[in-house]
Amino acid sequence: MSPDAETQMQFLFSLRSHGVTDARVLEAMEKVDRGLFVQGLFAGRAYEDRPLPIPCGQTISQPSIVGLMTQALDVQPRDKVLEIGTGSGYQAAILGHLARRVYTVERHRELALTARRVLDGMGFVNITVITGDGSLGLPDQAPFDRILLTAAPEDPPANLLAQLRVGGIMVLPVGAEGTVQSLIKVQKTADGLEYTELCDVRFVPLVEGVA
Ligand code: SAH
Repeated sequence: MSPDAETQMQFLFSLRSHGVTDARVLEAMEKVDRGLFVQGLFAGRAYEDRPLPIPCGQTISQPSIVGLMTQALDVQPRDKVLEIGTGSGYQAAILGHLARRVYTVERHRELALTARRVLDGMGFVNITVITGDGSLGLPDQAPFDRILLTAAPEDPPANLLAQLRVGGIMVLPVGAEGTVQSLIKVQKTADGLEYTELCDVRFVPLVEGVA
């Protein structure tokens, strides 16, 4: 069921009050019904600004964090974007409204299959869901204009930095599991990499290999 007008207004208000102010990001998030990505017990809480459990012991991220990450990624309409950690597919749907092409990689086959079904059902034709080890990136499709990780490595993976084009942006949480991690933005310029710390976050770890 899609949210009623009041629930939708509260959802968008909460995003804004957490610093999500980019009009294109807010518009994309307004279009994507988070309720489609949360099943079972927690479905009724899909419009609250909190992370929620999804199958395979994973989580759908908190909407305001999704908004801040998407905003930091500064996606342009012609961009080819790589997301590592499809999870429910919620973040991929938002990227699908902003970018020309989205590739999203998930190590749990069950999550990838469910996400693909939901995204297909929404009519997306520019999002490809792949079951695989995202820590390797997607060398066949590289370079990417934008790369987003929604699972945390201890350090930015060299494989992925290599698949970012010059002028590109990568946004990711970094830090050990169970500790406070930092959300960082990496910009690749002709002279090298520039790092900006955005905020403290908590994400599930980036785990190597397919589950
Ligand atoms: N973006 C998701 C949030 C997913 S949580 C959403 O919008 O719902 C992070 C996801 O990263 C989990 O589903 C986890 O299985 C996945 N993950 C962790 N390590 C991975 C890896 N090496 N490759 C691909 N996916 C990975």
